[in-house]
Amino acid sequence: MTALDETLDPSLRSWVEDANVLGSDFPIQNLPFGVFRHDFEERPRVGIAIGGHVLDCLSATRAGLFDSLSPPVRDALQSWSLNALMALGRDDARAVRRVASRLLRADTADGRTAAGMRDALLVRMDGIGMCVPAEIGDYTDFYASVFHATNVGALFRPDNPLLPNYKWVPIGYHGRASTVVSTGTPVRRPRGQRRPDEQKPPVFGPSVALDYELEVAAWVSGMSAPGETIPIAQANERLFGLSLLNDWSARDIQSWEYQPLGPFLSKSFATTVSPWVVTADALAPFRTPAFARPEGDPAPLPYLHDAADQASGGYDITLEVWLRTAAMRAREAPAVRLSHGNFQSMYWTMAQLLTHHASNGCMMRAGDLLGSGTVSGADAEARGCLLELTRRGAEPVALPEGETRAFLQDGDEVIIRGWCERDGATRIGFGDCRGVVLAAT
Ligand code: MN
Repeated sequence: MTALDETLDPSLRSWVEDANVLGSDFPIQNLPFGVFRHDFEERPRVGIAIGGHVLDCLSATRAGLFDSLSPPVRDALQSWSLNALMALGRDDARAVRRVASRLLRADTADGRTAAGMRDALLVRMDGIGMCVPAEIGDYTDFYASVFHATNVGALFRPDNPLLPNYKWVPIGYHGRASTVVSTGTPVRRPRGQRRPDEQKPPVFGPSVALDYELEVAAWVSGMSAPGETIPIAQANERLFGLSLLNDWSARDIQSWEYQPLGPFLSKSFATTVSPWVVTADALAPFRTPAFARPEGDPAPLPYLHDAADQASGGYDITLEVWLRTAAMRAREAPAVRLSHGNFQSMYWTMAQLLTHHASNGCMMRAGDLLGSGTVSGADAEARGCLLELTRRGAEPVALPEGETRAFLQDGDEVIIRGWCERDGATRIGFGDCRGVVLAAT
């Protein structure tokens, strides 16, 4: 963390009063970017979250409030997605952040000007729809938690849970960009081929083992040329920011289809992201050392090893999964917490995932999405999916009023939450990543 960055000063207050409420996900020290729309008649706009409101960047730019920024940056703030800003890169995003911070502060001349235009600049969060923040060219999902890999491996290979490549090479698969949806979009239970009885032929029908995966997603910044790699020392500059992600997974379809090429239709039906991109700059106070590899584990190969990344490549992000069933909604009962963990438990850093991804010359483009893989920790309460929590359905989770879950039922709502807090910094959050399961058609 750089003490010189005034945007992170915990003493800053905003004229947007609800941003100053203790525990808000979006205090003035956060300022995440997103894309919203008032209704389907109007085109999407870039916005910056502040408390329970959004700074409308299109209106603010037209009003001249971003005139100190270069024309390409002002164009990016008036576009329909974050791709243009992500293509420009982190330096320009940082410049926007500095101006937005001054505009939203209660104690600056710029802030007093903006506060006087409040109705033109601010929209209430509960009155808008949130879009997927970028047009995602490619989405890749990794498998970066050694605890998740070990827990899942043990269910299928009790004697040999962790495959020999795991500690050497970041494992990933190519996901489906077209079905990434924003928070609140209902998720239809997929139909697919599964084989419940190994003595009989497979059957086709609705999945009976629908699961969620708690993940953190990184948005790629800047454009690579074809064949260009991203050295590990430069990878953090190519990570624009983070969101939360739910990699919905049909375990019965997955276990039948995955050999030998990995997940396919078991995951491509839907992936939910939280719509606010919390920038790398806002996350600076919450960086931590990379995962401490136990004695005996190999060091990362040189192309994945960088002293700065080892020193601060991790993120201290508390992560929780909550569940609210249809029965709980009907009796107006609150959601219940299924798990509680931290993103520091990941074996590979986000920079290592990006560097590895590009190490063969694979072109990385602004708006590409990288999923971390299910975030699970050493503790039982930090298991990031039902497959692990229920041991493949064998030990269902007990819910209030006698309900249980081995896997998700129709009407279940899964809510992922994440936030960062530590002494000397202002708590920031990601906002919800949620979705309700609809019955198969
Ligand atoms: Mn996943």
